[in-house]
Amino acid sequence: MAEVESFEEKRHCMAVAKNSPTWPHVTSASEIGSWLIDMDGVLVREDHPIEGANRFLELLRSANTPFLVLTNNSMFTRRDLSARLKWSGIEVPEDHIWTSALATAVFLDAQRPKGSAFVIGEVGLTTALHEVGYTLSENDPDYVVIGETRSYSFDRITKAVRLVGAGTRFIATNPDPTGPSVNGPLPATGAVAALISKATGKVPYFVGKPNPLMIRSAMRELNAHSESTAMVGDRMDTDIVAGLEAGLHTVLVLSGVSDAEAAHHYPYKPSRVVSSVEVLANELEQ
Ligand SMILES: [Mg+2]
Repeated sequence: MAEVESFEEKRHCMAVAKNSPTWPHVTSASEIGSWLIDMDGVLVREDHPIEGANRFLELLRSANTPFLVLTNNSMFTRRDLSARLKWSGIEVPEDHIWTSALATAVFLDAQRPKGSAFVIGEVGLTTALHEVGYTLSENDPDYVVIGETRSYSFDRITKAVRLVGAGTRFIATNPDPTGPSVNGPLPATGAVAALISKATGKVPYFVGKPNPLMIRSAMRELNAHSESTAMVGDRMDTDIVAGLEAGLHTVLVLSGVSDAEAAHHYPYKPSRVVSSVEVLANELEQ
């Protein structure tokens, strides 16, 4: 009987180890097969490259290691973001960028192909929706979709409030209340979604991080598998929790929002904590 118990116990331990999302056995970046890398606070900080960022990306490119750079910002197209990163001194080809706008378009296309949406957002979102075959419409749309914009219109917010109030499905690209800028925080998608929520009593379905849906859609884009993929991010409450819930190896970098002390108090922890992507670049070079 004791033997059976110990066998069961052993099997349980093995199953836990195998399914453990924290991957305790991974100790070097060179063991990772593919990468999802958050942008702000990981590769760039206030329009400047973070130490090791270019070398890390260059090492991934030269080894043909699949990777995507992720952002919850839904304002820009891949091409715009690639150009903006280049201006900041970071080389990322446009097909290596994944945004919450693209994740939202992929999600809506899977849910209701060739549907229609009333959109508050900019070209990053409207282009992504057009590319999956969506039409933009104010009349009886399948969805109201809120994304990042710097030119909110009272008339369009009123239209969104009336549609959502009347029962139109409510989607937002990302829940971030603010976004970073050189001059201080900017109100972001989550803040405008909250305005519509307050007016209607309805909350949107948020597609971007921390929803692991954003991570899964990026992995599908890469044809990657969770067992061999790492998520690198600077925020415990978005990047790390989303990566963890999608079953990825997670790496917290201390070059952005979360510091080591604050990270310690979360009920979940990343697989690894490193000062910046420079540490990962060094490991890939060894
Ligand atoms: Mg970040």
